[in-house]
This record gives sequence, C-alpha cells and structure tokens, in this order.
Amino acid sequence: MKKIAVLTSGGDAPGMNAAVRAVVRTAINQGMEVFGVVRGYNGLIRDELIPMNLRSVSDTIHRGGTVLYTARSPEFCTEEGMQKAIDTCHRHGIEGVVVIGGDGSFRGARDLSARGIPCIGLPGTIDNDISCCETTIGYDTATNTVVDMVDKLRDTSQSHDRCSVVEVMGRHAGWLAMSAGIAVGATSILVPEIPYDFEADIVNRMKATAGTGKHHFIIIVAEGVGHVEELAKKIEEATGVESRATILGHVQRGGSPTARDRILASHMANYGVHLLLQGKSNRVVALQNNQICDFDITEALNMKKPFDMDMYRMANEISI
Ligand code: ADP
Repeated sequence: MKKIAVLTSGGDAPGMNAAVRAVVRTAINQGMEVFGVVRGYNGLIRDELIPMNLRSVSDTIHRGGTVLYTARSPEFCTEEGMQKAIDTCHRHGIEGVVVIGGDGSFRGARDLSARGIPCIGLPGTIDNDISCCETTIGYDTATNTVVDMVDKLRDTSQSHDRCSVVEVMGRHAGWLAMSAGIAVGATSILVPEIPYDFEADIVNRMKATAGTGKHHFIIIVAEGVGHVEELAKKIEEATGVESRATILGHVQRGGSPTARDRILASHMANYGVHLLLQGKSNRVVALQNNQICDFDITEALNMKKPFDMDMYRMANEISI
C-alpha cells in the first residue's frame, strides 16, 4: 500500500486532530503518501484532497475541532455520490482510507470497503456511543468540559441555595451525562436509557438531601431526556427550591483535548494505519479492557453496548 487518505466525518470531537496527526506521521514513516480529505465524504465526492507531509500536522495535537473540517454528506448516501468518491480514490491511486467519526461515518466506510476501497474507522465522538468501544476519542475531554462548567454553576447555586438543572449533550446516549454527573456529584442524573420517576428520582432525593442540611442541588439531564426549562419549573413548584435551567450546548464539543484523548487518538490512529498495511479492510479500531483492538465494521454496527447500570447505581447511592 503506497497511498492512503484520512478524513473526519459527522460530529466533531476533541482529539480528532491528534488522530489525523498520527495517521499522517505513521503513514509517512512507513513509506506511504497521505492525502487529507477536506470536509468528510464531501471532500471525496468533490475531489478536495490535500497532500500531507510531516509538517502539515505540526501544532495540531492540542487543538480541538478538526483541521480537515467535517461535514454531513447526504450525497454520499446515494449510489451516484458514492461512485464519485470511488472515482476520486482511483484517480489519485488511493488504496486505503482512514475515517474518523461515529456510527454514521462507519456505515459510509463499510459501503466504500464493500466497493473495493479498504477503509478503517476510528471512533471519534463525545457521546461514547460506539458499541464495540469502551471509550471513544473526545469523550474524556467533553466530560472534563462539562465538569469545569458545572463546577462554576455550583458556586453560584450554592451561594443562592438554588437547584441547577443542566442539559448536557447526548440525544440517544447518557454516557456523558453519567460520567459528568458522577464527577460533579449530581443529586440526580437523567439519561435516555433509563426512564425516571419525577417524585422518587428528583423530588424525594432533594428533600432527603435537604433534610440532612444540603440546600443546593445539581440535576444533570441528557439532551435526549430534554425539557430542562419545564423540569426546572416543576422542581421549583414541588420543592420550593429556586431552580434554574442551563443548556450547555456546543461548547461541550470544543476545547483542547485532554492528555487521555490525545494518547487514545494517537494510539488508535497508529494501530489503524498498521491494519491497512497488513491488508485489512472494513475494520473499526476500538478499546476493550483498556486494550486497543479491532472489529469488523459490519459486526461492530450490529453490536449493542448496554448502559453501565452498576455505575448508574453507584452514582445514585453516593449522591444523597
Ligand atoms: P457520525 O459519524 O458522527 O455518526 P453522521 O451520522 O452524520 O455522523 O454520519 C456522517 C456521514 O456518514 C453522513 O453524512 C453520510 O455521508 C455518511 N453516512 C451515514 N450513514 C450512512 C449510510 N447508511 N450509508 C452510507 N453513508 C452513511
């Protein structure tokens, strides 16, 4: 294999640059040429490729976002769009593609692999919702960002004896809500995976906590549960505690990646390029039992990651 390409696709995540950097450096050190594809699959369709050298990725390991830009590409999901992407690969002699993104991006990588362009997926998403992978690139940074912001909210809610109802990202997955909720000592954590009971899981917990002398509260709510404004109103009515809703929003995607995400991204990317060198295709790089490993993309997309109920139980046990 002499020429490969790397792209970032779907939602961005901190650490994607560290992954791109490690793909470029590994490939060049292994004697290959590398192209960076601009704006995900759109860049393959429109032939927007940048030849990368060792210095193209200098000063990027500490930067959030993605220097290659990212996009959602509905055109790529059509046979015509996919064919244009394949034609671009053939025109440039690209023999393998590293795709950094989430499940949607891996579906694209699976389809390209099936049409003769070997692809390797690297899991980049703050949601940590890749079934075959314990921890995805960006999850640790996003958790730390939420913790940092909720710590600031805590100062003010503590000073005013308030309840802060905080919405964090995660439309379908509550991992970020749970990890941040544990780290900020939230009174309640609401996630899409587990139905909640307003009285038992919020009101009674707040009353029990107030009974032992605590008068400020943090309720972490995953985006998929939603309605934080209404929830704050209901909490105030039911408990008499002044309650405010805060939606953290896109700030959670940004920022300099943590050391943990930089290391994970570097390791996964290096591993991914070596898979291509071994002639592998349609594989996703993952973390299992804290070891880097790989799975068939089609199998990985069919896997289920059960929500960590023991972690959730633990969070509840220590939060009042
Ligand atoms: P993420 O990778 O973060 O899950 P998306 O779901 O938006 O993000 O997917 C990113 C891109 O991957 C899409 O815009 C599309 O180009 C491609 N993609 C998603 N689903 C498919 C699919 N079923 N088949 C082919 N390509 C897909």
